Amino acid sequence: MCGAFTYDGGVVRPGETADLRYTVSETYLGDPVRVPVTIVNGEREGPTLFLSAATHGDELNGIEIVREVAQEWDHTDLAGTLVCLPVLNVPGFIAQQRYLPIYDRDLNRSFPGTETGTSADRIAGRVFRNFLEPCDFGVDFHTSTRGRTNVLHVRADTDHEGVERLAKAFASNVVISSEGPEGTLRGAATEAGTPTITVELGEAHRFQRPLIDAALEGVLSVMAELGMRETERVKWPGWRTVIEGADEKTWLRADAGGLVEMHADRGSLVETGDPICTITNPFKTESVVVEAPFTGLLVGVLENPLVYPGNPLCHLVALDEQTRRAFEAHHASLRE
Ligand SMILES: [Zn+2]
Repeated sequence: MCGAFTYDGGVVRPGETADLRYTVSETYLGDPVRVPVTIVNGEREGPTLFLSAATHGDELNGIEIVREVAQEWDHTDLAGTLVCLPVLNVPGFIAQQRYLPIYDRDLNRSFPGTETGTSADRIAGRVFRNFLEPCDFGVDFHTSTRGRTNVLHVRADTDHEGVERLAKAFASNVVISSEGPEGTLRGAATEAGTPTITVELGEAHRFQRPLIDAALEGVLSVMAELGMRETERVKWPGWRTVIEGADEKTWLRADAGGLVEMHADRGSLVETGDPICTITNPFKTESVVVEAPFTGLLVGVLENPLVYPGNPLCHLVALDEQTRRAFEAHHASLRE
């Protein structure tokens, strides 16, 4: 796509950059609820890529990623257009909570939205029609849910050609393939012809600099893949696993209520039978050791160490022998 980027109420022409606050709803006082948007339209022709964050209002890492790309990178040679949406769920962001405070609706189950539905549908709809659907590709940034943390990884429907292209270009070690639940931003955008991936990194309520920096490399790599920045190259992350089958990943859940001591960190390799964590009662007289059911990588772990039975403890993805050797070789090279 080339030329001007148009949305309902404005136009951004080649060579122009616009910071705007776009009204998506109204508060109880009738004041506008406005989403910040930065549109950078390059002088050269190229694709249109959106970068969005804080669809869940307390997931902050992505906000800094999108802001830095929009405001701090030199876009002089940009081919194409960047549509940067650092804070999608403005009411959730202000309340510092995951869901829209209006009836606790999940904005990330409300896409593509409608003009006449619930408040969440309408917010999703205005964002979707104006800033997501018109793009050629998209990346939506998330973190783990409050109380847990993730390694940087991509979630994407790798059966879709355009999505797989983005997922590989983002240069993350782990890609978890799925269509995702109904109503997600990435699912709805992909369905509407805008291949989109989700990038997960770290925990809610934090700016985690090493993860943010790694994700910024991923954005550069995606832009290189799409031909938006001539001087950049697509990055290879050193090793990679693409998790496709349901038997290659599992959420380990607590079978006892209690206090959890983790024995393995986010991102570490565990072998079948390795203790991952121990759940104890208040007197430390009873304990349950949770072991790895297969050899794999801990993609997500608990940060808040308190569980009821059924609460998630960690997210484990399988590593086959070849990937495991690549993982170990890569980590050995980093230590040298
Ligand atoms: Zn999220």
